[in-house]
Amino acid sequence: MAKFQCVDELVKALQPIDPVYCLRKNSLKIAAETFKNNFPGDVLYAVKCNPSEMVLRTLIKNGINNFDAASIEEIKLIKKISPESKVYFMHTVKKTNSIHDAYFNYGIKAFSLDSKEELEKILKVTKNAKDLELFLRIQTSNEHSEIDLSQKFGANINESIHLAKLIKLKAKKFGLSFHVGSQCMHPVAYSKAIKDLGTIIKKSGVIPDTINVGGGFPTTYPDLYPQPLQNYFNEIIKGIKKLNLTKEPKLICEPGRALVAESGSTIVKIELKKKQNLYINDGTYGSLFDAGTPKFIFPTRAIQLDNTSSSKRLTPYSFYGPTCDGLDFMKGPFMLPSNIKTGDYIEIGQLGAYGISLRTRFNGFYSNEIHEVEDKPLMSIYEADENHNVKTLFA
Ligand SMILES: *Cc1c(COP(=O)(O)O)cnc(C)c1O
Repeated sequence: MAKFQCVDELVKALQPIDPVYCLRKNSLKIAAETFKNNFPGDVLYAVKCNPSEMVLRTLIKNGINNFDAASIEEIKLIKKISPESKVYFMHTVKKTNSIHDAYFNYGIKAFSLDSKEELEKILKVTKNAKDLELFLRIQTSNEHSEIDLSQKFGANINESIHLAKLIKLKAKKFGLSFHVGSQCMHPVAYSKAIKDLGTIIKKSGVIPDTINVGGGFPTTYPDLYPQPLQNYFNEIIKGIKKLNLTKEPKLICEPGRALVAESGSTIVKIELKKKQNLYINDGTYGSLFDAGTPKFIFPTRAIQLDNTSSSKRLTPYSFYGPTCDGLDFMKGPFMLPSNIKTGDYIEIGQLGAYGISLRTRFNGFYSNEIHEVEDKPLMSIYEADENHNVKTLFA
């Protein structure tokens, strides 16, 4: 991993044939500080979003020392580089071997579940351990989010009432959790979910030690401008207050996207231009999965090395990736100069989240060129003032 002042300098120096992935430490620092200083509880980083060692180390250095893992490999990764960090095993359907390994070999006590069967599995594998912290994940509306998780995970209200009582009997600490869906565009999704928790608490008579409001905190894309993060935090605080609990639960959150999206860019080269379609060297089987079927629009910027001055006129383009699959198509629109051509490069921004973590080797196309850059991301919800206090944009 080399370090460059900016993406342009990197492209000039390397003139890369394969895709290159750039990471920015400063973006990670600003995002970590914003969550640490403003979220009223513990901040867990959702490892799946970007498990690069540089990302993990930078977050740890900036005060994030709790992690949300979904597999034993993610747990091993965190424990290898930071043995003292606390890892929560937050997948609701786990392999028995993984639960065993996590509990007995890595000291993991926190697990999530949404069914009686998984509860029984965890208790059996840990030999009825008395020091478990168990999180019941409830199903919640994902109507305000770009990526829906509500069909796959979560117990409904009636199941939750029943399960809450069962878990309370077995766990040292009892937690309730939800996930409003990824890239959640309205803070009210959180207070609605917290209200559902209130119903479960009331009907089960079980007060949680911890409430986990999950991930879903948004970043910004050319067509998606979220409200300031502080509005999300305020909505959560307001929602918890309204529950009027006799004992205040500890709060945790599990951001992925909002912590790391801005830190990463993908640099691609144009292999062929057919009208408004650009055939590029990375695609949906590489770091651009979310530009495919989920149809995310990412910010783009042309890098033309041959001194043709970029046309000021931006026009909408679609991308085709390098593989032989017709699904390797990214509709966009991606706005780029009208004179962009074969051989030019494009910086595609906001790919620190769900970018390099989704790469495959399909069709023989794979790049592992990852470098550090020190310039600003193409878009940002974070901005530091002159005293290095972080404020979020769009306030
Ligand atoms: C993916 C995931 C997250 C992170 O979600 P973002 O939308 O990226 O913030 C948090 N918690 C769980 C359980 C997840 O599956």
